[in-house]
Amino acid sequence: MDLGSLYQDVILEHNRSPRNWGELAPPSQRADGRNPMCGDEVTVWLTIDNDRVAEVSFVGTGCAISKASASMMTQAVKGKTRAEAEQVFAQFHAMVTGRHANPADDPVLGKLKVFSGVARFPARVKCASLAWHAMKEALDAQP
Ligand code: ZN
Repeated sequence: MDLGSLYQDVILEHNRSPRNWGELAPPSQRADGRNPMCGDEVTVWLTIDNDRVAEVSFVGTGCAISKASASMMTQAVKGKTRAEAEQVFAQFHAMVTGRHANPADDPVLGKLKVFSGVARFPARVKCASLAWHAMKEALDAQP
């Protein structure tokens, strides 16, 4: 398996032009993530309104997978309830760790399926899931 096959156009495009980039002003909830294996760092901010993720943003440095995953994470959870956001993370994590029975037919994953190839590269699982772990931690953080 060629590592190049991991870098689909969607991933490269999000790496070049990350969505929802920047800090959110207080009172927002934030969490940091670090992946020393690859050198990726990410900070995620979000605001909760009526149990929904009203705003979500990130700033990060690191590889294309970590940045694209953070960018697409923000799009995937914005507007979702806390429970829905955790559900998307659970399905995403199952997919990148190769424990999802059939990611291709999972409507919850949507565009996130471009990361299904990560399951074949165990060293990149942390890159792909870093921002998601930070998002989950931010959900539980105090504003
Ligand atoms: Zn990485």
